[in-house]
Amino acid sequence: MTRAYNFSAGPAGLPTDVLRQAQAEFLDFHGIGASIMEVSHRGKAFMAVFEQAEADLRELLAIPNNYKVLFVQGGATLQFAQVPMNLLGGRSADFIVTGTWSQKAYREAAKYGTARLLATTEEGGAFRRLPEVDSLAFDPKAAYLHLCTNETIHGIEAHEDYETRLTERLSRLAPGVPLVADMSSHILSRPLQVSRYGLIYFGAQKNVGPAGVTIVIVREDLIGHAAPTTPTLLDYRNLVADTSMINTPPTFAIYMAGLVFSRLKEKGGTAAMAEINRKKAKLLYAAIDGSDGFYRNAVDLACRSNMNVPFNLPDAELEARFVKDAEAAGLIGLKGHKSVGGIRASIYNAVSLEAVETLVKFMADFRSRNFR
Ligand SMILES: *Cc1c(COP(=O)(O)O)cnc(C)c1O
Repeated sequence: MTRAYNFSAGPAGLPTDVLRQAQAEFLDFHGIGASIMEVSHRGKAFMAVFEQAEADLRELLAIPNNYKVLFVQGGATLQFAQVPMNLLGGRSADFIVTGTWSQKAYREAAKYGTARLLATTEEGGAFRRLPEVDSLAFDPKAAYLHLCTNETIHGIEAHEDYETRLTERLSRLAPGVPLVADMSSHILSRPLQVSRYGLIYFGAQKNVGPAGVTIVIVREDLIGHAAPTTPTLLDYRNLVADTSMINTPPTFAIYMAGLVFSRLKEKGGTAAMAEINRKKAKLLYAAIDGSDGFYRNAVDLACRSNMNVPFNLPDAELEARFVKDAEAAGLIGLKGHKSVGGIRASIYNAVSLEAVETLVKFMADFRSRNFR
């Protein structure tokens, strides 16, 4: 058996030792005589898995006690609707649009109330950066401010210094307006100050586990204000009251996420991840920037993502050959998103330094064979 070096954007590669553990206990989970996916979500075995997963996530992100953790379904995409249903309360919300995902969030929210485009960095259909913090004129009466902290398709990330400047300006000019963030593609890639946010959401299939579970971390005072027409299942208050079990939760996906959390703790948590993630990103961007223009990444240096690295080659034909040759060399998942084309290497937590070193070597070799 060989496992390829997997640079898929999502669903993405999972740590091999997590998959091995799942495989080992797949048929008989801890002597219960059944798989964890075959037993009641309210039974003792699954409840223990569920509670441990939440406890480990709370520890990894140092989530304060006045925040609830919800395990829901529908992906980050459903949060684009569920957040405004629960938080708008007849008011308006501000949106920062920096790529495909924040644009979708903005358009979806407009169905449930007033969504104001606070800033967009779209230029001629392309996104290359975050807006200057000093240019942002927040609505001090807004129900919330929405930001996607890592644009998976465009490779634009709000790093810690940006987050610091943004939250400082927000609390100065619009005190009390909570920041809501879509962190789907970089959660757990670095330490995070949860208290800077009112609500954080992320689908699992990038950095957390298999597709099927979405996690919402929400400050208590933002719960209980849902519009009356909000479906029972989508009201955060109901989800809190029934500990995410109004209906059957995605038990197997939660179990897998729990295995990833536990492994992450063993590996030194988010600080250790941040260090290796920085190393990986630095190596890959250096390979792009040092290629005499053969490989190009157009994102502003300060906003380059440590998780998703999109790049182009001189033409589409070379890009197609790059993907094909890479696959033959055991490097998979490198084709860029269909909306932007090109190449994209997603280097999430589960992608090792060795995988990135192998990719960089392949890139140098491919360039020497195809440079013209
Ligand atoms: C993948 C992704 C989404 C969509 O997630 P689904 O779980 O497919 O709904 C939303 N936002 C970001 C930043 C993403 O990376």
